Amino acid sequence: MKVPVDVSRIYEGERIPEEEVFVTLEPGVELLRVSEDVREGVVVSGRELEEMKQGERLPFGLRVMVKGSMSRDAEGVLERRLHEFINYIQGVVHEGSRSNVRVRISRRAVEQGLRLEHIGMVVGELLRKEYPAISGVSVELITDEGAVRELAEVAEEVYRERDERAASLRDEEVDVFYACEICENHAPKHECIISPSRPSGCGVISWLEARAAVEMGEQALKPVRKGRVLDEAKGEFEGVNEHSKGKGKERVFLHSLFEHPHSQCSCAQAVVFYIPEVDGVGIVDAWFRGKTPYGLDFSGIIKQIGDGGQHTGFTGVSIAYLRSPKFLQGDGGWSRVVWMPSHLKEMLRDAIPREHFERILTEREAPTLEELQRLLRGRKKEEEQALIAVPSWRFRVNFQNAEFRVGRVIFE
Ligand code: SF4
Ligand SMILES: [Zn+2]
Repeated sequence: MKVPVDVSRIYEGERIPEEEVFVTLEPGVELLRVSEDVREGVVVSGRELEEMKQGERLPFGLRVMVKGSMSRDAEGVLERRLHEFINYIQGVVHEGSRSNVRVRISRRAVEQGLRLEHIGMVVGELLRKEYPAISGVSVELITDEGAVRELAEVAEEVYRERDERAASLRDEEVDVFYACEICENHAPKHECIISPSRPSGCGVISWLEARAAVEMGEQALKPVRKGRVLDEAKGEFEGVNEHSKGKGKERVFLHSLFEHPHSQCSCAQAVVFYIPEVDGVGIVDAWFRGKTPYGLDFSGIIKQIGDGGQHTGFTGVSIAYLRSPKFLQGDGGWSRVVWMPSHLKEMLRDAIPREHFERILTEREAPTLEELQRLLRGRKKEEEQALIAVPSWRFRVNFQNAEFRVGRVIFE
């Protein structure tokens, strides 16, 4: 079957004006697995494009199974390439990763005869072409709500296993990090430096997965010599600085928001941002549809900083990095965080140190900057009063049993 629209790298970064969108497939989830049991071909489960109406919004699932001589650790990188390959198709825009995927398809492409089945064919063919180690591919595109939900449940479990496997390593245990350039077409100045303690911004590629992909011959990822540790807390390494000069960055801090933070593209799962008015840090994730105390939502912020440049006070991160023991360690880690969406806070309950968990405000208590300032000011006042109360209590204790001591202190 021939694909009725063009397929080329030049369509990556293509924009479809709102009025030109035929359907939006969202929320979407995608999962790629390496398996021996692959039934080659493309299957569409649920409605095809010709059965949809203009302006519809449907849930979406993409399940890809590949067979070949590669390790399971390569799954993350192969899964990430789906984003790129789908964006090569004229009239199709893929955004996000894992369970935060959105695919928009233009009216013109549908009129030209494009179907979901063609998207599956492109994905299968490009995977085989780019990775000779792959001997078989099956692609399932799902628009049936129940089947999408089932895939999402399986996928969450797989993402969790992958993240747990990767989380056992630390930056100090390895000599090489990896630089990923998959996103350079939509953010030319950007690349992710993937270290064991700082998985990629899109959340799909851990250090282990990057290593497996490089071993498999993946060209979009490069090993980066770690070199001398220049600042342990901020995560500054000689080798990373040297490598990053090629992207116009003098220095890169992996674990700090300030001065030379790690850059981001629009694929980041979350953004960590400094709030100067309260000298604290906020976090907003791509799943949160509300506004931050800044008055901007996630997409509003990522639009401004997702060009791949370094924006002091901002950094794009993955959910896995929020779980890292080195999360923002150069800036005080979780002790510095004052605001995040309630669902994210709950999701990270086990990762946020107990002493900080209750102190972090959410959109429920502090939907605006004024409210955040008011609550934090009130808390500061309470803490100051508690501090004043402690010395006076100490003084009373001393005073009660210190008749002779008072005399001694005064007259000695
Ligand atoms: S966000 Fe980073 S790691 Fe993920 S595909 Fe893009 S450059 Fe690679
Ligand atoms: Zn990207």
